[in-house]
Amino acid sequence: MASEYRIMDYPEKSWSISKMKVIDNCFREYYYTYYGSHNGWLYQSTDEQKISWRLKKLTNIWIMFGDKLHELIKSLVKDDGSEINVGEIKEHMRVKLNLGVKESLQKYRNGDWDEYPKGEMLQEYYYGEKLKEKDVEEIKKRIESCTKGLIVSKSYNEIKNTAKEILEVDEEKFDFIFVSGIKVYALIDVLYIDEKGNYVIVDWKTGQFSEHDKEQLMVYVLYVMERYKVPIDKVIGRLEYLLIGENYEYKFNLDDIIEINNRINMDLNVINAFLEDKDKNKPRHKEHFLMCDNISKCRKCKFRKLCLNEEEI
Ligand code: SF4
Repeated sequence: MASEYRIMDYPEKSWSISKMKVIDNCFREYYYTYYGSHNGWLYQSTDEQKISWRLKKLTNIWIMFGDKLHELIKSLVKDDGSEINVGEIKEHMRVKLNLGVKESLQKYRNGDWDEYPKGEMLQEYYYGEKLKEKDVEEIKKRIESCTKGLIVSKSYNEIKNTAKEILEVDEEKFDFIFVSGIKVYALIDVLYIDEKGNYVIVDWKTGQFSEHDKEQLMVYVLYVMERYKVPIDKVIGRLEYLLIGENYEYKFNLDDIIEINNRINMDLNVINAFLEDKDKNKPRHKEHFLMCDNISKCRKCKFRKLCLNEEEI
């Protein structure tokens, strides 16, 4: 039986590291991303809801690169047949990215995205710009480096040769746990059991290091412990930096778990401070979500159409 679709007045309350990064970046961006765009897909919504929903769905060339590479790795991990072919991977990435760019260009010319935001749209083209030559060259280099990094990576080789069981591969169902009463989603790139019986969490990184990478891994550890009823000493978290062909492996302890729980609790206070009704997750008025005062940051933001005037954009 088909599940019933219910229109919710407000979005679901949840915590994630990416949400907290948006709050750090700009309060107004936080508003548009998590509240202002809610229900923007409905005919009866306001123009601002519809516009912010469309803008929220824009991507950029770096995110597109990371998404396509993750999709490809997912299919390689799931495919237990053919040998990995470097030339084919590079060609696949080149073709996929070219298609993404062409699709965006076409939508920009036809104004399709403002009609209905289906498929992909690069922010660069939506705002009438072009990809910078130096960025295109950097993407080409990254395709090369990440492909090499994947082939030599400890995780890919263990998954293909010695892993006892693969439990999750970038699942589409967005599983979650509750921490301090708030939903925490966990979308793990790969989770497998190695030959020693450890639960190994792999996070493929297609860009540079980030100070949040290890924290994200700790969230996944919480999820694995709860979902699979595994003790902490049987869980390994591994960050695979494909660009540089290095990995960092972590075993966590109970102090780490307390630390991440504390962090989520503190963040919950921040999330609640923007709410008029904490139970319903009803936001305060938009004006409480202050705009950032850095025009060069705004000029790179996907929501700038809603914040800047024509000349500033
Ligand atoms: S354009 Fe500037 S003020 Fe508006 S959401 Fe983006 S960063 Fe914030």
